[in-house]
Amino acid sequence: MIIEDFCMYCGACAGVCNVDAIQVQELKIVVNDEKCVKCGLCVDICPVHALTLE
Ligand code: SF4
Ligand code: SF4
Repeated sequence: MIIEDFCMYCGACAGVCNVDAIQVQELKIVVNDEKCVKCGLCVDICPVHALTLE
């Protein structure tokens, strides 16, 4: 998972992840690559297209 710097920390990606792989911290998004199953839901929901699958 790649997070571009135009992320606005809205938290939508974390809310849609079924395996809780994304954590929204203060001005920082953390993705747990060991949990991520590359389903792409977070990529689709991001309003500013800040996420891409590696
Ligand atoms: S690709 Fe799927 S599993 Fe991985 S962080 Fe996004 S929503 Fe979660
Ligand atoms: S949905 Fe997009 S803008 Fe919102 S926190 Fe996630 S990466 Fe950032």
